[in-house]
Amino acid sequence: MTINLPLQAPSAAGLIWQVIRNGEAKTPAERDAVLADPGFGNHFTDHMVDICWSEKGGWHRPRVTPYGPISLDPAAAVLHYAQEIFEGMKAYRHADGSIHTFRPFENAARMQRSARRMALPELPSEIFIESLKQIIAVDADWVPSAPETSLYLRPFMFAKEAFLGVRPAKKVAYYVIASPAGAYFPGGVEPVNIWLSTDYARAGKGGTGAAKTGGNYASSLLPQAEAYEKGCQQVAFLDDAGNLEELGGMNIVLVKRDGTLVTPESPSILEGITRDSILQLATDRGHAVERRAISLDEWRSGAESGEIVGAFACGTAAVVVPIGRLLGTDFEIVHTGAEASELALSLRQELTDIQYGRVEDRHGWLTRLDA
Ligand SMILES: *Cc1c(COP(=O)(O)O)cnc(C)c1O
Repeated sequence: MTINLPLQAPSAAGLIWQVIRNGEAKTPAERDAVLADPGFGNHFTDHMVDICWSEKGGWHRPRVTPYGPISLDPAAAVLHYAQEIFEGMKAYRHADGSIHTFRPFENAARMQRSARRMALPELPSEIFIESLKQIIAVDADWVPSAPETSLYLRPFMFAKEAFLGVRPAKKVAYYVIASPAGAYFPGGVEPVNIWLSTDYARAGKGGTGAAKTGGNYASSLLPQAEAYEKGCQQVAFLDDAGNLEELGGMNIVLVKRDGTLVTPESPSILEGITRDSILQLATDRGHAVERRAISLDEWRSGAESGEIVGAFACGTAAVVVPIGRLLGTDFEIVHTGAEASELALSLRQELTDIQYGRVEDRHGWLTRLDA
């Protein structure tokens, strides 16, 4: 992934925003009741952003409207051919009340890569950032302030043209919705057990694995259900050659005895911004980092010999989670040593300290959304 840190303030790219306030917005008391225990993905703020795109008019009619149902023609292409992409990020409230998000230009660039793969139009980064600022401008009070809470931001784009022929849609919609999120692990971070799916794959060579698109998630649901049946919380996938890929929605990092971190490099995995940031923090601490193909056999034999002492998963929602156990049909890897999970948790702490403004943002990763 290329890391680009634009230093100048983003411009609104000349678009004129229309803001329609929600006349039935939650009262402060109703909102506080939600923010007291938001969970994840259950509740939504009072507003949403939407921008239209058409082949003729490009990006147009950006607006903020009351949160609510979307009206779609039953022939809308997304409902038939799944031409859809999304992003996931968080807005963090700092101690001084200001609201920041983490590396949004990376999310913007990734959404452009996803768009290219799914034959959708690329939303310019300035408009992407502006859309986040617009929703925060009306829903800032929805950013919670309790420890480890945040406002989850979900930008997404889909083909809305009503046409059953198979080709890229000429009419597309981009939205941003926002959902307050509680601490992911209120009782402290617990290691997860992972089921290794061998009957199913989430992506294939030349497929859409590197795009953040709903279809990848749809194909992970059945193996995810299988994981639950096996007593595991998450499912891990391999590629055709038996190399480790990732979980349904999180990347994987292995920890070697000498402190080296090893993570899969593959054209069919989704490159996480959390993983990239964690590996940067580890590099800053002097850890060696390897991005390369990792076979399942390497993990198995390394765990047996003591060469690999643990593993963790990472992504925006849960941040970093140690992997306690990898369960396959005819084998099991159990990581019991404290070393790797202590490293994972200390990197997690450093990352969240940056996100919540508790330590210096030395890489310039934060973008303020409320100013
Ligand atoms: C979003 C996502 C991740 C994690 O990406 P982050 O940028 O760290 O949130 C990992 N894998 C998949 C399949 C994803 O969709």
